[in-house]
Amino acid sequence: MSVDTSRARMSAELFVNGTWTAGKAGRLDNVDPGNGRTVGAVSLASTEQVAEAIAAAEAAFAAWSATPAAARGDILRRAAGLLADRVEEATATILLETGKTEADARGEIGRAVETLRWNGEQAGRVQATMFPGVAAGSRRTSMPTPLGPVAVITAWNFPAVLATRKLGAALAAGCTVVFKASEFAPATARLVVEVLADAGLPAGVVNLVFGDPQAVSEQLTSSSSIKALSFTGSTAVGKALAAQAAPNLIRTVLELGGHAPVLVLDDADVDHAIATTAAAKFGSAGQSCVAPSRYFVHESRYREFVDKLTAKAKSYVLGHGTEEGVTLGAVAHQGRVDALVRLTRDAVDHGAVITTGGSQAARDGFYFEPTILAGLPLDSKATILSEEPFGPIATVSSFSTVDEAIDAANAAPYSFAAYLFTDSMAVRDDVVRRLNASNIGVNQLAPSLPDVPLGGLGNSGYGYEGGIEGILAFTQLRLVSETHVTRGESHARR
Ligand code: NAD
Repeated sequence: MSVDTSRARMSAELFVNGTWTAGKAGRLDNVDPGNGRTVGAVSLASTEQVAEAIAAAEAAFAAWSATPAAARGDILRRAAGLLADRVEEATATILLETGKTEADARGEIGRAVETLRWNGEQAGRVQATMFPGVAAGSRRTSMPTPLGPVAVITAWNFPAVLATRKLGAALAAGCTVVFKASEFAPATARLVVEVLADAGLPAGVVNLVFGDPQAVSEQLTSSSSIKALSFTGSTAVGKALAAQAAPNLIRTVLELGGHAPVLVLDDADVDHAIATTAAAKFGSAGQSCVAPSRYFVHESRYREFVDKLTAKAKSYVLGHGTEEGVTLGAVAHQGRVDALVRLTRDAVDHGAVITTGGSQAARDGFYFEPTILAGLPLDSKATILSEEPFGPIATVSSFSTVDEAIDAANAAPYSFAAYLFTDSMAVRDDVVRRLNASNIGVNQLAPSLPDVPLGGLGNSGYGYEGGIEGILAFTQLRLVSETHVTRGESHARR
């Protein structure tokens, strides 16, 4: 594997009503977190341009929602093929604007292709349900009906997967979209919209904007044209958006932060637990909502576990995704490094021992060493146990009873991914039932694949993405009750 970055076009403009256009509110640098250098620019929309995007989505809705579902699905499947054709360029684009390793960037494009294809296949399978009527000759039909123009706002950390999950589902459902992608990964969003347009998406069906995030989101949620908001990002911004959407009762799906616990019981295969979860812990430099971040290990295996996890963390080769042999990439920006330094210092103040890492790596770009913080008591008030760390860092604590481990796992205010390693089926069922989590990997990872619904609770948000439920999130169930009336019959039927 080796990526050719000369193929990547790192700037992004707006896409409004089928036309690529420069933003009138200036430009922001697109910075490569892997070396801190500017690689392109993102064009920022003025208030008038956001209004044009909303108007375009509204104007396109009637024709798009009336387009046969199979034809909508064809466009999504064609877009999947076009993205697959551009895999080298797309891999380079993600790598340069997110700081990912080549393997992570390449893997993400594969998942994005699969997501567009899956939603394309499902578009024609959104089914109505028929119920018998109450009177003879009558029937009732519950029909999923596209909501209208919707707003989609995405995080930077999986710019292709998040865009294809939301756009794929909204378009399959028959909605039109104003898409506000992250200004930290604009070129990947541009590329996803390009393949949709090249696949034949009519003008106005997807409109891409960037800008001042708060101002753009306020404009979207205060518009009477926008019928739903699907957001993926941090808990703090998700809460602000829920409040913004409330006055207009705009339906929201919120995919927010996570703080995944890993329970390693006394009968677990420690080597397997470490090999499995390390991929999610250090992939994308730990900046994933399903990244394991709090390990709770039975006391009989604790020392062995800390030693082996520490050795595993030390084995990662940190560097720019274009460098040979690199297995751990950068974090998003200096602000993320500063947050990880703060969380580490606070954990040490609460008694944690740094077994490896703990500092910003001394090189250009934004890197934090793979870090293991051992020995925090289960009831510790260290901030890292309650705040999503979002980086290549994890705590390891020991427990003596399963009840204690479950209480500690459930203590963080998130409910998204969790992991359990045990050989016992009976214990497994009990722990799975009692864990406060929506996505549980038992002796394996917990991937968010396109065919299954997934959503959080608490600080992890609400609503579902993925699966047919993810498409139905962009629809309203319309009930039609009908009676066949024979001419001359005068009585009303129910
Ligand atoms: P973020 O909340 O800073 O940004 C997300 C999006 O919101 C971006 O488009 C950004 O421009 C916009 N935004 C930022 N501030 C805003 C404001 N005040 N008003 C309106 N919009 C605003 O998050 P991020 O750093 O891009 O992404 C990381 C977060 O996303 C993590 O918490 C991670 O766990 C979460 N995430 C969750 C999932 C999931 O499926 N649950 C998936 C990926 C990422």
